[in-house]
Amino acid sequence: MNKTIEDIPGVGPAIAEKLSEAGYTDILDIAIASPMDLADKCDIGAKKAADIIEGAKLCTEVGGFETGSGILEKRRQITKLTTGSKELDKLIGGGIESQSITEFFGEFGSSKTQLCFQLAVNATLPEERGGLNSDVAIIDSENTFRPERVIQMANYLQVDPEETLNKIHVARAYNSSHQVLLVDKAGDLAKELKIKLLIVDSLTSHFRAEYVGRGALAGRQQILNKHMHDLLNFATINNAAIVVTNQVAAKPDMFFGDPTRPIGGHIVGHTATFRIYLRKGKAGKRVARLIDSPNLPEGEAVFSVTEDGIKD
Ligand code: ADP
Ligand code: MG
Repeated sequence: MNKTIEDIPGVGPAIAEKLSEAGYTDILDIAIASPMDLADKCDIGAKKAADIIEGAKLCTEVGGFETGSGILEKRRQITKLTTGSKELDKLIGGGIESQSITEFFGEFGSSKTQLCFQLAVNATLPEERGGLNSDVAIIDSENTFRPERVIQMANYLQVDPEETLNKIHVARAYNSSHQVLLVDKAGDLAKELKIKLLIVDSLTSHFRAEYVGRGALAGRQQILNKHMHDLLNFATINNAAIVVTNQVAAKPDMFFGDPTRPIGGHIVGHTATFRIYLRKGKAGKRVARLIDSPNLPEGEAVFSVTEDGIKD
């Protein structure tokens, strides 16, 4: 991968210039620099310097071999974001993890989008409240982002609704190629702002609408594969959580006969680290089922969607 120093999170054009002028022209140089040195030579704060070095380390590791202890060290930086429901958090091991893709799939109305709103609001909360103290990027492919819902949830959490909305950056994806491009744009945004959560709601609807028929399947899977890997890179480089939603085939799909199978087949399934199947339960309740986790048992959690947001 040919990355430049501007690909390091937190490095915009101005900082990139300072770095180059100080002789840091390669990501590797930065990854192995000492924070004091870097801060000194580039005339930036020590904290900023440390963040840039951390980002450079993550950048250099993307796509290569790593030792188990390197991976363990990286996993120590994993953060967890609360869903708003303790039951659901417990099911997924304490919350939505950074450095991973979490997929919520289910039929229309199963509350995928409501969960996205709640996660976006929660991510802006401080860490003590289960948040990530960060801004959020949302790629909205179905035009279902509703600021009014964010305001309701923010009010319930007693945080300033306007401040919360200002931290949530929404891009409408007009088609599948635009959607893929928006992950790059999110990467640019993450250089200027701390973005610890990237949401794609929905991951598959454009792909499903555009690639119709048996002959189109290979092309669809190829682009979807690239898209998923771009998302995973974003997660790794920014130590961010990725949340994607996915529909289930309402009619038996020609390839996936089971009507509760998520769209996207193996590509999405193998790249998402956590897959959670959502369905409607009795009396407005929702049931989440964890499927296919690398380190957690399968199980179910019940939560509800209320005016105030996601609750137990
Ligand atoms: P999808 O899985 O299709 O994205 P949504 O997340 O849009 O589904 O879920 C829609 C459901 O969320 C509605 O059927 C309704 O039950 C619930 N919902 C939406 N807004 C509110 C609200 N203000 N108060 C309570 N429940 C709501
Ligand atoms: Mg939706």
